[in-house]
Amino acid sequence: MSATVTEASPEATDRAKTIVAAHEAKIRPLDIAAGKAWWAANITGKDEDFKKKEEIQNKLDAALADKDTFADLKALKELKDKGQIDDKIIARAIEVLYLTYLPKQIDPELLKKITAKENAVEQKFNTFRAVVDDKKMTASEVAKVLKESKDSAARRKVWEAGKKVGGDVAADLKELVKLRNEAAKQLGFKTYHALQLYLNEQDGDELLKLFDDLDTLTREPFIKAKAEIDEKLAAACGVKVADLMPWHYHDPFFQESPGVFDVNLDDVYAKADLVQLCEKFYDGIGLPVGRVLAASDLKEKDGKSPHAFCTDIDRDGDVRVLANIKSTEYWMSTMLHELGHAVYSSLNIPQSVPYVLRGEAHILTTEGVAMQFQKFSKSSAWLEQMGVKLADPKAFDATASKMLRNELLIFSRWCQVMLRFEQGMYENPEQDLGKLWWELVEKYQLVKKPAGRSAPDYGSKIHICVAPVYYHNYMMGQLFASQVHRALAKQVYDAAPGSVLYVGDKKVGKFMTEKVFAPGRTMTWRELTKFATGEPLSPKAFAADFGGK
Ligand SMILES: [Zn+2]
Repeated sequence: MSATVTEASPEATDRAKTIVAAHEAKIRPLDIAAGKAWWAANITGKDEDFKKKEEIQNKLDAALADKDTFADLKALKELKDKGQIDDKIIARAIEVLYLTYLPKQIDPELLKKITAKENAVEQKFNTFRAVVDDKKMTASEVAKVLKESKDSAARRKVWEAGKKVGGDVAADLKELVKLRNEAAKQLGFKTYHALQLYLNEQDGDELLKLFDDLDTLTREPFIKAKAEIDEKLAAACGVKVADLMPWHYHDPFFQESPGVFDVNLDDVYAKADLVQLCEKFYDGIGLPVGRVLAASDLKEKDGKSPHAFCTDIDRDGDVRVLANIKSTEYWMSTMLHELGHAVYSSLNIPQSVPYVLRGEAHILTTEGVAMQFQKFSKSSAWLEQMGVKLADPKAFDATASKMLRNELLIFSRWCQVMLRFEQGMYENPEQDLGKLWWELVEKYQLVKKPAGRSAPDYGSKIHICVAPVYYHNYMMGQLFASQVHRALAKQVYDAAPGSVLYVGDKKVGKFMTEKVFAPGRTMTWRELTKFATGEPLSPKAFAADFGGK
């Protein structure tokens, strides 16, 4: 609050209402068309559908680049910051629209250069193949060696060959970082990293503090979990734990949990009807998904995207999931995840929330909800309550709970590297980036830099090149998931978080709708976290899930 109190101005509020309505009238049809075109392109994989999608996207971008609209929004945002718009919802809509139009105000020539560089880098990634002993390997062949080989020398060769793409793109990436920084400076920001955080209503110092706290709380559980994994990895390759190198982990970055435990979680799901289980679960908690499933595309097809995603086409209940379901634990967890996004949508955000704000509060809150539900695929107690018989629940749990713990801890350390590296890279692209990268990997992931290695290994992570300053949101989503689950366990059940499984309890849907979904984007992610859980976002609940201090 500033010392001077400004009077609310009915005129400013009216101007704000007009611009919000004009935006909706102009953009909504384009949004819907873009959503439908994107859906079609991902289902068919046809060039003509991708072309159509690109055309609509260009129209949408052009509309958001409109200079007059942006000037109006900027003026209204200043009035809002002075407290002159007294309708809280309209004031929030002005903030959100300002943040939507701002990044499109970059000089079009510069934007073209950035897009061209990004495309060039993406193409290099798409066409890159690791070459080992003069033989080209596909990505899945590389993955297979890293998952299965017991030969350290063979693993090393494949790992090093896979990293070569980093060298191929390093010069382009450096150029791209400079161009992105130039764009940020045009908009009045010190670095591109700072701009991206501003657009996401986040702050660099606050983020580092959050990640420092997360580091403190997870370091010991991570060291313990890694020691157990390292022992098994070392035994498998016949080396000493002290001699483990980056190529001994099961993926190129040690971002995933190596598969070193005994029980196969897929057996339980081999005969289960995954879609029916999901429908039963979500209906049971009072968040029905029948309409979503009917509009979805869930089976493998030629040309179809092999991934999974959820999309709210019209913010009026047309919500769809794309998936390629097989009867495995991976797909059970993925479907629970995507349907988590689906229930956090216009299905459960009232139509009274203006179109501009009728979506999730933030990418981290919707990822958080999806991850909150996703975890149940690894719980034998949840499966039994859902009516799925397990041959050996204890063995299932011993493996599944360890996997879940390892996955989350390992991922949290990897996110530390990503956040800090990106921040450092945009602050000073001229520094020795390879050195910065390996210092972070050694410090947070406890993985040793190979002696004498000086290759630009950071460049081999595609997200650093083409999905910049985004990764930390996944981690924050995990923190949100743990915190909301704990608040729900306490407020709805007054029970220990580990015992709360949601099955068949409509109070769960009521809590999630009232406390998380219904506000849509009328609240910032900070306000929503406080509203839903009574506390600001912190790593406490996440760490407590692993017995961290
Ligand atoms: Zn997701």
